[in-house]
Amino acid sequence: MKRRDFLKGAGAGILGVMAAGRLGRGQGILKDGDRVTMLLEAEAFANHGGWKVDQQFMDQMGSPFLLAHGLGRPVEDATQEVRFPRGGEYRVWVRTRNWVAPWNVDGAPGKFRLLVNGRPVDTVFGTEGDEWHWQDGGTVRVDKGRATVALRDLTGFDGRCDAIVFTTDKGFRPPHGGPRLDAFRREALGLPDTPPSAGDYDFVVVGGGIAGTAAAIVASRLGVKTALIQDRPVLGGNNSSEIRVHALGGVNKHPYKALGDVVKEIAATHCGNAEEAEKYHDERILKAARAEDNLDLYLNMRVVDVEKDGNRISAVTGKHTHKNTEKRFEAPLFADCTGDGNVGYMAGAEYRMGREGENQTGESMAPEKPDEMTMGCSVLWNSRKEPGAPDFPDCPWGVQFDENTAWKTFKADWKWEAGYWRNMITEFEYVRDYLLRAVYSNWAFLKNEHENKQKWADRELNWVAYVAGKRESRRLLGDVILDQLDIDNAKKYPDACVTATWGIDLHHPHPKYKKAFGESFIAANRHPHHKPYPIPYRCLYSRNVDNLLLAGRDISVTHVALGTVRVMRTTGMMGEVIGMASRVCTQAGIPPRGVYKSRLDQLKELMKEGAGLKNG
Ligand SMILES: Cc1cc2nc3c(=O)[nH]c(=O)nc-3n(C[C@H](O)[C@H](O)[C@H](O)COP(=O)(O)OP(=O)(O)OC[C@H]3O[C@@H](n4cnc5c(N)ncnc54)[C@H](O)[C@@H]3O)c2cc1C
Repeated sequence: MKRRDFLKGAGAGILGVMAAGRLGRGQGILKDGDRVTMLLEAEAFANHGGWKVDQQFMDQMGSPFLLAHGLGRPVEDATQEVRFPRGGEYRVWVRTRNWVAPWNVDGAPGKFRLLVNGRPVDTVFGTEGDEWHWQDGGTVRVDKGRATVALRDLTGFDGRCDAIVFTTDKGFRPPHGGPRLDAFRREALGLPDTPPSAGDYDFVVVGGGIAGTAAAIVASRLGVKTALIQDRPVLGGNNSSEIRVHALGGVNKHPYKALGDVVKEIAATHCGNAEEAEKYHDERILKAARAEDNLDLYLNMRVVDVEKDGNRISAVTGKHTHKNTEKRFEAPLFADCTGDGNVGYMAGAEYRMGREGENQTGESMAPEKPDEMTMGCSVLWNSRKEPGAPDFPDCPWGVQFDENTAWKTFKADWKWEAGYWRNMITEFEYVRDYLLRAVYSNWAFLKNEHENKQKWADRELNWVAYVAGKRESRRLLGDVILDQLDIDNAKKYPDACVTATWGIDLHHPHPKYKKAFGESFIAANRHPHHKPYPIPYRCLYSRNVDNLLLAGRDISVTHVALGTVRVMRTTGMMGEVIGMASRVCTQAGIPPRGVYKSRLDQLKELMKEGAGLKNG
C-alpha cells in the first residue's frame, strides 16, 4: 500500500497531509493545514513503569504493545513527555481490546485510564471489543507545549495498549488494522521505505533460543561474521527466565562426541520448570554471546520482512520492539531459528503444520488421517510462601473451577498447556490469554473457595509468564523429512549429525479437562523411549529457499518425529551444526545443500572437532 492511501476513507479531511516528522522515538505527527494528528506508540514510552512490552503477536495485530501484567495488582504508570504543537481540543483514540471478550464472560479485567498532565480522560479503556481496535476516548483540552501522557492500570490483570492518537480533526478515525494501519504508522513515524543497513554480515541468524544462540556463537568462533536477531531482551527462548523451561536431552553422543560442548556453556539444564528466575541464568548466555568477536547481537528486534532474489533471501528487516526503528540485514546466508519458522514462511519456504496421517507416512503414532492438531503452548507460574499473604481477587471472567476441576498445586509444570486445535500462529494471543484466565482463576479458587483453602492462605502468586512457551507450529521442509520409521528402524543416513536421545514425547488435551471445559488447558502425553538416533543434516535447511539453514523446533521432521528432536539440548546441537555449516558455505561460496553434495567431509571434520571453549 502506498503511504498516503491509508487516508482514503479513513475519515474526513487530512488528505493532503504533510508529515511533520518524528517528535521522539515512537512518536509522530501529521499536519494538514491547521489540523494536527499525533501518534504515540505505547511500547516506545520513555518510562514503561510496571508495564511489559509484549511483541508476541506483532505479525497478527501489527505492533508490540504494553501489557499491565501485575498478577492482580495494578502496575506503576507508564509515562511519556509529549509536545503538543498547538493548544485546543483533541479527540483521543486508544488502540486496545477487552481481552476476555472472546469468551463472552462478564467483566473486563484489563481496564486502564489515560491521563494527560495528571488528569484522566473520561473513558475507561480495555472494556470493549474482542478484536484490537481504536477505542473512542472522547475529547481532551490541552495547552500548547509540553505535557505528560500516562497509562494508569486499574487492575493488574493484563490490560493492553498498543498506541494512542490525539487529533484536532474530529472526523478522523485511525485505520482499523492491516496494511492501512501499517501505512498510517509508517507515515506518522516518518519511517523510510528502505531501512538503513545494519552492516555487512556473512550470516544472519534469526531467533535467539538455545538453537539460534548456539548457531551464532559457533559461526562466530569459526570466523563467520554473524548477526543474531532476537525479539526479546534476553536470549534462550523457552530456556530463559521469561518462560522457565529447563533444557534436556543428551549431549556429547556418538558419532560426534564434541557436539554439545557449546550447549553446555549456554543452556540451563536439569533445574526444573517454573522455578526462580536465577536458575535460568539469563546473564550467562548473554555474556557468552557478547564475548564473541565476530558476533553482533540485536536484542529487542523482530524480523518482520524478507526480501528475495529468485530462490534466495537477499535481506531481512528487523524492527526494534521498543523504539519502532528498523534495520536491514543483507547477507549471503540466513538461519531460521525462530521456532515458528517465521523467516521461512515470509520467504515462501515449504512447510507443514499439524499432524501427518498414518496413511501418508506409515507412522504408528500418527492419527489415521492428517489433521491440524499440534502440541500446545504453556504459561508457567509459581507461588511463594509469604506469611500474611494478601487475598487474591475473584475472577468471574476466568475459567470457572470446582473441587473436582481445580488444579491443587503451588506451581505449574509442563502440563499447563493449551492450543492443540487452535492455530498456534494466528490464534496465539487467544491461546496465551486462555491460559492466563485458567491460571488466575485456579489461583482465586484455591485461595478463596477450596475446602482446604488454609493451605494456600500464606501463599502469594509470585510469577506468571506472559511470554508463552511454544512446543510446535510450522515445520519447514528440507531435503529429508525425518519420521518415526527412520527412528524405529534406526535408518543410517550418510549425513547423520545430531543424536536425539529423548523419547517420542507427544502431547494431547487431557480428556478430563477437555470434558469439563470443552477446551483443555492441561495436557496428557505419550512418551515411548527409543534408542539414540542421529538426525540427518538434510533436515537442517529449506528445500526451496536456497540459502536458509534451520535449527530448533522448526526443522524438517514430521509431527511424530518432532516429539523427540524438540528438547533444547538437542536443538542446541542442531545450532552448533548449522554454525559449522555456515563456515563451510561461507568459505566455499556454496548454499547449504552444497555442503551435503560436495563438502560433507569438511562438515564432519568440524563436527568431530567441536566448537566449545577448550579451556572454558
Ligand atoms: C512448557 C514447556 C515444557 C517443555 N519441556 C521441555 C523440557 O523439559 N526440556 C526441553 O529441553 N525442552 C522442553 N520443551 C520444548 C522446548 O522448550 C522447545 O522445543 C524449544 O524451546 C524449541 O527451541 P527453539 O530454539 O526452536 O525455539 P524457542 O526456544 O522458542 O526460541 C526461538 C526464539 O526466537 C524468537 N523469535 C521468534 N520469531 C522471531 C522473529 N521474527 N525475529 C526475532 N526473534 C524471533 C522467539 O522470541 C524465541 O525467543 C518444553 C516446551 C514447553 C513450552
